Amino acid sequence: MLLVKNGRVLDPASRTDAVMDVLLGGETIREVAPAGKIAAPQNVEMFDATGLIVAPGFIDIHAHLREPGQESSETIETGTLAAARGGFTAVCCMPNTKPVNDNASVTRFILDRAKAAKNVRVWPIGAASVGSKGEAIAEIAAMKEAGIVAVSDDGKPITTAKLARQVMEYCRSLNLPVIEHAEDISLAAGAVMREGVTSTRLGLRGMPAAAESVCVARDVQLAELTGAQLHIAHLSAKSSLEQVRSAKSRGLHVTCEVTPHHFTLIDEDVTYDSRFKMNPPLGAREDREALLAGLADGTVDAIATDHAPHEPALKDVEFDKAPFGILGFETALSLALEQLVNSSRISLMRMVELFTVGPARLLGMERKMAPGQPADLTIFSLDYSWTYKVKDSASKSRNSPFDGRTFKGAPMATIVAGKIVYKR
Ligand SMILES: [Zn+2]
Repeated sequence: MLLVKNGRVLDPASRTDAVMDVLLGGETIREVAPAGKIAAPQNVEMFDATGLIVAPGFIDIHAHLREPGQESSETIETGTLAAARGGFTAVCCMPNTKPVNDNASVTRFILDRAKAAKNVRVWPIGAASVGSKGEAIAEIAAMKEAGIVAVSDDGKPITTAKLARQVMEYCRSLNLPVIEHAEDISLAAGAVMREGVTSTRLGLRGMPAAAESVCVARDVQLAELTGAQLHIAHLSAKSSLEQVRSAKSRGLHVTCEVTPHHFTLIDEDVTYDSRFKMNPPLGAREDREALLAGLADGTVDAIATDHAPHEPALKDVEFDKAPFGILGFETALSLALEQLVNSSRISLMRMVELFTVGPARLLGMERKMAPGQPADLTIFSLDYSWTYKVKDSASKSRNSPFDGRTFKGAPMATIVAGKIVYKR
């Protein structure tokens, strides 16, 4: 048993914001009560959360753990340790491993490795098509049986509208969300950043915002046609967000996520430094403004990291040649506090919602601070000052544009199934 004492409990599901004690027993929450009101059993382990925020466990619905196949960049063990240090209690891992997670045996392998790592929960996402090649539909039902929580060909879009329709029809019957990496391949071909004044100045090939929003338009229409649940991954463009907002207002089951780097940085921040190269690329100033508005008004459902480790040998090369993607777990909460809460863009409660209830809901789950719920807690400080040093990251990779940044606010402890898996 573990008693988390005297923390400021923030529970978006019940709108609770009060100093309380939380008793965890086994793998579930036993009791939540005003501070000092729980008669703790003898020998109970104590965690003093005085001055700290105690929230339901954070969920990251978009991460790359690189195992199997790219263990020199990350393993399930190092990735989940980095996730725990970032305050995440559960991460959904994308299927673009080697081999691709397009069948139940790969799904089971991932779950076995996660269990052995004993860090945070891992919820695999299965490929939409065999090998994510965009040709034949993958063995989605068998993967669901094995434990996938959603379907995606992330890294690229589901290639054709015909296949996307077929995947959506199938996933609708299985009650699985279809997560789309929205990108029109023909518009994005050869591009390494967002098209605009900065790409012209740097002489780098850019892709227009429409490379994303054209695909969002296709998928929203197919979601309407099929009745499927469509989730847009790492949404970066104002024009995409407007389509999600409109789809929601028409009652379609369309959701989206935004990454910390897209709500923090813009294309003007890009230099020839490959740590600023990700896909979708950093947007224009007006895109960032739109994302901030969407995070505030409820159009955006979740903050997701798109944690994408690449070992230095791959990433520390010319901008044009480097792979897309950056680390995300360890800086996500601090960036959200800095960019969203401390700047008064959104409330602290709304931020917690974007890390907890939001992602849970789109996976068909609940997240709340109540007896019987999983004993997963994220405990963080609003004023702990620290500097992110990527050389000390738990990840095997070092590709972060936020190396050396000083933050106010940090994850302080991560509790999964009643056990402290990380304590600062
Ligand atoms: Zn993607």
